[in-house]
Amino acid sequence: MGFDLVLKNAKIPQGNRTVDTHILVKDGKIAGFTNDLTGIEVAEVIDAENNLVLPGCIDSHTHFNDPGFTHRENFATGTQAAAAGGVTTIIDMPCCSIPSVRSVDNLEAKLEVIKDKAYVDYAMWGGATGEDVRNNALYNIKEQADYGVVAFKVYMTPSVPTYPPASDAEMLEIFREVAKTGLPVGIHAENLDLCTYHVNKLRNEGRFDGPAWAEARLELAEKVAIQMAISFAEETGARLHIVHMSTGIGGVLVGEAKKRGLDVTAETCPHYLVLNAYESMTKWRQFAKIAPPLRTTRDNEMLWEQLADGRVDFIATDHAPYEIATEKEAEGMDIWTAFPGIPGVETMVPIIISEGYNKGRLSLSRLVDVLSRNAAIHYGLYPKKGALEIGSDADFTVIDLDYEWTIDKDKMYTMAKYTPFHGMKLKGKPVKTIVRGKLVYDDKNGIVGKPGYGQFVKRQTISKLERWIKF
Ligand SMILES: [Zn+2]
Repeated sequence: MGFDLVLKNAKIPQGNRTVDTHILVKDGKIAGFTNDLTGIEVAEVIDAENNLVLPGCIDSHTHFNDPGFTHRENFATGTQAAAAGGVTTIIDMPCCSIPSVRSVDNLEAKLEVIKDKAYVDYAMWGGATGEDVRNNALYNIKEQADYGVVAFKVYMTPSVPTYPPASDAEMLEIFREVAKTGLPVGIHAENLDLCTYHVNKLRNEGRFDGPAWAEARLELAEKVAIQMAISFAEETGARLHIVHMSTGIGGVLVGEAKKRGLDVTAETCPHYLVLNAYESMTKWRQFAKIAPPLRTTRDNEMLWEQLADGRVDFIATDHAPYEIATEKEAEGMDIWTAFPGIPGVETMVPIIISEGYNKGRLSLSRLVDVLSRNAAIHYGLYPKKGALEIGSDADFTVIDLDYEWTIDKDKMYTMAKYTPFHGMKLKGKPVKTIVRGKLVYDDKNGIVGKPGYGQFVKRQTISKLERWIKF
C-alpha cells in the first residue's frame, strides 16, 4: 500500500521523552510509524529535520468576527494567523458575529459564510444569553448540542451588543439547561456590578493611565464570579469551564472545586502568564487592554504553577483583535472607551514553548496536554484531534526548540497589527504546520495552504478530563 505523505525525521513526545520516527500519512490520517523507509512508497516527503513534532496545537478560544465584524478579522486572516502560529484547529466563539450563534440556523449561516475561507480546521462554540432566557428560547441549547457544537459560552458582563450578558438568575437557568447536554458551559467570570462601579469611580477620580483599567476590573470581581459559578455548577451538575482565567486566586478556587469532585476546569492565556498590568499597560495602554485585565507578576507565577500541576487545564488565547484606527485609538478615545481585546492565536504556541517548556516550567508531557491533548478531550474532539495515534488526523506542529526570534507586530498575519508581545524575544518557534497531511505553513515560505481547505469539525463525542491533579 502506498502512502500520501511521510513526515520524516520527527521527534515525537512519549511521556517526558522523545522518540525518533517517520510518520506515515494516508487519506489525511496517521497511518503508521516506522524507523525504516526502505521499500515504502510515498507520494510526498516532508522533512521535520529532527525537530519536535507535537499533535496539532489547538486554540479553543478565538473570536474571528466573521460574518459581521470583518473589519477586525475574518476567517481567512484569522486561520492564516493560526497556521503561522502552529495551530491546526481553532474553536470559534459564538458572540462576535452577526448574527451571533444562538441557534442552529445562525450557526449554519456562519458556516456558510466561512466555508471557503479557512486554512486550518475549526470547531464551534454554541451560545446562550440572558435574552434567550427572557424569550423562552433555551430549546436552542439542545438543538446546538445535537448539531455538534463543543460547549456553550455565557457572559456575566456585556461584550458585544449582539450577545447580551446573563443576569445571575438567567445564568442559573442556562446552567440547568446545558447540564442536560453533558457539554461544558464556558463562563467569562467577572462580576459586572463590581467592575462597573470601580470603572466609574476611577474615571471620576481623573485616572486615565493604562493600569487604571486593570485596577478597576479588580481581582475580587473575578474571584466572586468564579465562586458563584462553582456554586451554580454544584447546584445544577453542569460542567463549568472558566475561560481566560487571569488570577492566581481563580486557580486556587478551581483546584479546590476539583478536589471536591466537581466538574470544574479552567484555561488561562499566554498574556496572563507572561505580562503584568503595571508594565504592559503603562507601555501599551489600550493595546494591552483586555477583559479580564492583565494582573500582577504574582498571578503570572501562580498560574504557571497551576498550569503545571493540573489546576489549570490548558491554554487558549481569547484572540480578539480590534481595528486600530476606529476601536483602539480613534480621535478622543481613552483607556476607558477603547475596545478591550488583543490578538493571540499567532503567538500562543511559541510563547508557551519559550517561556514554559524551554524555561523548565512545563514538562514535555504537560506541554502536549496544555497545547493540544486536553482541549481535544475537553471539547469532545479526541482522538481525532490532540493525539499522535494511528487513525488520528495527521495534524502536526513542527517546532524548532532552538530558534531565536523576536515577535514583530508588522510581520503577523492577523488583520490587527498590534500586540503587547511586540518586541518580546523568544527561543522556540513553530516552523511547519500540517493539517490532515497538508503543509499549510512553512517558516521559509510563509502560508502555503489554500483558503477553504480547513474543515468544520463537529464534536465527536462527550469526554471529560480526569480530575486527577498532582498537588
Ligand atoms: Zn473571549
